[in-house]
Amino acid sequence: TKWIYSFGAGHNEGNAGMRNLLGGKGANLAEMANIGLPVPPGFTITTEVCSAFYDNGRAYPSDLEAQIDAAMAAVEDAMGLRFGDANAPLLVSVRSGARVSMPGMMDTVLNLGLNDETVEGLVRSSGDSRFAWDSYRRFIQMYGSVVLGVPHHRFEDILEHAKRALDKEDDTALTAEDWQDVVKDYKAIVLRETGTPFPEKPKDQLWGAIGAVFGSWMNPRANTYRKLHDIPASWGTAVNVQSMVFGNMGSDCATGVCFTRDPSTGENIFYGEYLINAQGEDVVAGIRTPQPMSAERATPDQNPMEKALPEAYKEMLNVRSLLERHYKDMQDIEFTVQSNKLYLLQTRNGKRTAAAALRIAIDMAQEGLITQEEAITRVPPSSLDQLLHPILDPKAERTQLARGLPASPGAATGVIAFSAEDVEDRASKGEDVILVRIETSPEDVHGMHAARGVLTTRGGMTSHAAVVARGMGRVCVAGAGSITVDYKAQTMSVSGHTLKAGDWITLDGGTGAVYLGRVPTIAPSLSGDFSTLMGWADSVRRLGIRANAETPEDAETARRFGAEGIGLCRTEHMFFGPDRIGHVRQMIMAEDSAARARAIDALLPFQRDDFTALFRIMAGLPVTIRLLDPPLHEFLPHGEAELKEVAAALGQDVETLRARRSALSESNPMLGHRGCRLGISHPEIYAMQVRAITEAALAVSKETGKQVIPEIMIPLVGTKAELDLVRKASEAVIANVLEEQKAELTYLIGTMIELPRAAITADQIAESADFFSFGTNDLTQTALGLSRDDAGSFLPSYVEKGLLPQDPFISIDREGVGGLVRMGVEKGRATKPGLKLGICGEHGGDPLSISFFEEVGLDYVSCSPFRVPVARLASAQAAL
Ligand code: PEP
Ligand code: MG
Repeated sequence: TKWIYSFGAGHNEGNAGMRNLLGGKGANLAEMANIGLPVPPGFTITTEVCSAFYDNGRAYPSDLEAQIDAAMAAVEDAMGLRFGDANAPLLVSVRSGARVSMPGMMDTVLNLGLNDETVEGLVRSSGDSRFAWDSYRRFIQMYGSVVLGVPHHRFEDILEHAKRALDKEDDTALTAEDWQDVVKDYKAIVLRETGTPFPEKPKDQLWGAIGAVFGSWMNPRANTYRKLHDIPASWGTAVNVQSMVFGNMGSDCATGVCFTRDPSTGENIFYGEYLINAQGEDVVAGIRTPQPMSAERATPDQNPMEKALPEAYKEMLNVRSLLERHYKDMQDIEFTVQSNKLYLLQTRNGKRTAAAALRIAIDMAQEGLITQEEAITRVPPSSLDQLLHPILDPKAERTQLARGLPASPGAATGVIAFSAEDVEDRASKGEDVILVRIETSPEDVHGMHAARGVLTTRGGMTSHAAVVARGMGRVCVAGAGSITVDYKAQTMSVSGHTLKAGDWITLDGGTGAVYLGRVPTIAPSLSGDFSTLMGWADSVRRLGIRANAETPEDAETARRFGAEGIGLCRTEHMFFGPDRIGHVRQMIMAEDSAARARAIDALLPFQRDDFTALFRIMAGLPVTIRLLDPPLHEFLPHGEAELKEVAAALGQDVETLRARRSALSESNPMLGHRGCRLGISHPEIYAMQVRAITEAALAVSKETGKQVIPEIMIPLVGTKAELDLVRKASEAVIANVLEEQKAELTYLIGTMIELPRAAITADQIAESADFFSFGTNDLTQTALGLSRDDAGSFLPSYVEKGLLPQDPFISIDREGVGGLVRMGVEKGRATKPGLKLGICGEHGGDPLSISFFEEVGLDYVSCSPFRVPVARLASAQAAL
């Protein structure tokens, strides 16, 4: 088997299409070398080696060593240096690189190949002994912690101690001799911590590093990241071994990270950060504050690369447009300048905020780089959520505490927590939390996920906190250096304020501002790029998009977001208002029909007003109103006080009522007296609702001159007979109202398909239905025999164990529940070819489920108002 693919060393064996085998980094290094860009020579050990390694109890394939030796020899030839040569040693980096990038999750070792002998060679070949010894100590530090497992802070402590003893503040002030002493102490700590001396043989070092990268694939933080991002463990990681180039060999050297466009806003500017005389990880580690690439937006105290290294900068400008045109997407590029010569170390499609994804997609389509269809596929529908999130109310009073970098946009307000654990604790109690750290590391990822926003006091726009927060859509302000964080005391202090854990702060990730307390927020604007993309999406999608809404506010939000109607108005949600709930309880608890009739009569005007408001807002768009479907227990009077209240209103004694309440309470309300069953036992309830709907439709038709066509929906139907009964009764009520008012009305009466029996007998049910709407919440519950309300206690572990691919209440179970939907569609249309079909369960707003609904040929999906834009985009993508 071929386990190794070379790049930049004479011939390139890989290309960008080989991402699965070579990982993203390896494939793109090969691709850059292919298109003639300066890539330091190296080779990629394939992801298949990783799989083989784990399949064989952490043992390598027997022919791997020979292939690595051969590839190493090719790199040596290309560089004109020998690995382990005492005079002019070749040094390499060893990095992980999976199919998709997992920022900061995997381990990297730089400067590999140094030992007591080769360091002298590096002194000679570089002519810079300070640089050589600095590189050596960096290597021991990285290798020691990454490969040998010596705690990182052991090395930090030694360094701090040395600096204090020498009375030097900056690392750069340390001389070659100083670093020699540090190296001695580093080696001593390695010996003490591991019981073995630091490995001197470069080849041993190489195998150790390779093993550490493969080992890191299964470390806890990589596992967490994979879980959060649905990355299968079976993909494995590749290992890239690449000859070192040095950004820390003097003032004509530098290292940097840049984006071909602004990853926060998407603006078409060259965006990036670099550090002079520094090595790779310094930029992202947040230890020194990086400088901007371009002079245009630099402040006077900054030192942009454009001024400091004009030649290399010009070359980077070239690389920027070349790579963007080649990949047709925004690139995230790592580079190093060694003695004014530019090298590229990585390129990949850059992570970006939702706002940036949107702007870049639209701009690139308008620039002609991609098509409109491609632009539609470039924006992940679920990321639109971020754009719909609030921003700070510009009129609100505020006290600014500090300003950091605007690392990930949006506004977030919450209580302070200083550790990932504390964030999770507080968030699990329903608090909004802001994670405040000096800097973040991969150990903090779970806390960042649970937080509303992240604030760091150190690090730049490409620091760990910034990159991860952007990827997750969390608000982030990074590098707010004027804030002092004291983990021990659990406080942060800034400009005279000292805040404790649990105190409120507000972040504006768009400006980098940090405010005291809670600052009110407002809804974002939906014009510009957002409406352009939505327009493009609307022009290609086939599915209609409706919203689940019952309040006027929700209906208005839904329209603002582009809903084409209401697909589900849950009338039981209208019954909880303080002016209504009493009547509702009386209606349910009444013993005789006269008392029930009084309660129902009292509800009629409320319902008529409710429907009138909805019809007005929806202005002629279809509105599907579902007749009452409560799990009865939700309405029963709970405490003693409520019981007394209802008793008084009904003129009955409390004891009778108490008995009635226990008679009505069910052991399994979800499968009990709900849906059309309730309408069948108490026909007067549905009669009142149908009357209210009819009267409201007639009134709004008259008032606006636009015909309102109400769609009346019967819930939880299991048999055609049930639907027939309710339909007949409803038609009689409508006929009565029309007779009273001497008016005419077009209306539809349809049903929800939310029980397996309804799906299986959909051909019969369709005979009596004008439309179907799949209630995939109940259909999931009943098909899987999985309680909607109780599944939370064990379902997550099912997903974790891989027994279910995802939570079936979030993303439809295609094979099972989806099979019932497909059957319902086919049988329904077999009876009535033109039968209108929709879905109104939560799945209506889930992109994966939407692609399934497109596939089975539904007419529309209906989802909560805030998901409407998501559904518009997801259905466009599903149609392409
Ligand atoms: C459903 O069951 O999918 C549905 C939309 O109805 P509800 O969630 O109100 O039961
Ligand atoms: Mg339901």
